[in-house]
Amino acid sequence: MELNLKNKVAVITGGSSGIGLAVAHALAREGVHVALCARHEDVLAKAAADVKNAHAVRTFAMPVDVTRLEQILAFTAAVEKEFGGCDILINNAGEGSNETLSDASDERWQYYLDLLLMSAVRMSRTLTPSMKKRGGGVILNNASICALQPLPHGPIYATAKAALVMYSKCLATELIPFNIRVNAINPGLIRTAGWETGGKEQAARQGISLDQWLQNVADEHAPIKRFASAEEVANLFVFLASDRASYCVGSSYYIDGGWLSVTT
Ligand code: NDP
Repeated sequence: MELNLKNKVAVITGGSSGIGLAVAHALAREGVHVALCARHEDVLAKAAADVKNAHAVRTFAMPVDVTRLEQILAFTAAVEKEFGGCDILINNAGEGSNETLSDASDERWQYYLDLLLMSAVRMSRTLTPSMKKRGGGVILNNASICALQPLPHGPIYATAKAALVMYSKCLATELIPFNIRVNAINPGLIRTAGWETGGKEQAARQGISLDQWLQNVADEHAPIKRFASAEEVANLFVFLASDRASYCVGSSYYIDGGWLSVTT
């Protein structure tokens, strides 16, 4: 399938590992130049170099904490200088939370809202003028199945992701007259660093291997009875970023191995 993505420019937050890095590789494979950001400079620089070497596209990387507005503004200005604008924005940076609501502090709420919601608001607001000038674009917000079907341990994460999905819907309506398509993607169980780090502790406590612990999680939640790889999720991002998804606007696309227990 010809995706017509060659020589487009994509900006990916949290592009140094997991789903963000898989999306960077998958887009670059189609000839897309990518700008990546994340906090840890060494990991980020290696990720950008790997993408460049593997796919012979231009890459740009800048250490950024997306909870900080001034760092977002510096990054988007640098992208504009490097590439002259952007066609595809992937708001992906994030991590899970773990708390109970009866004692979670305002600071904790604010951190996760900045990370999971406001980063997307700020990145989108800053980069849409460039998309408008280029005649259109695509914004994909990486939300979560937890936006609709929360896990018990991360209520702030689930609340922030639900807000991100509604933000995507509202932004889609506002931007489609400018030929900018906005959608949310709601992954289920994807085997990335977050699950592995948390899983190691749980597995050690239960006296089982990490693989067995992850299998138990998959058996409990996902009818497909396995985690997805980040690459499987990246395929959906690539399709939605392409002209082939030209009528996909303002929706949430679940990729969850059957975990969502209702229809939407
Ligand atoms: P990873 O931990 O592998 O990747 C997270 C990425 O986000 C890293 O590049 C990390 O880099 C970056 N990041 C985290 N915090 C910040 C910050 N404050 N500023 C800039 N970058 C940041 O996790 P995943 O790939 O699993 O997660 C990616 C997204 O997918 C998240 O939004 C997550 O909620 C979502 N998701 C994941 C699911 C899963 O099962 N894995 C399921 C549903 C949704 P660094 O630490 O260097 O900043």
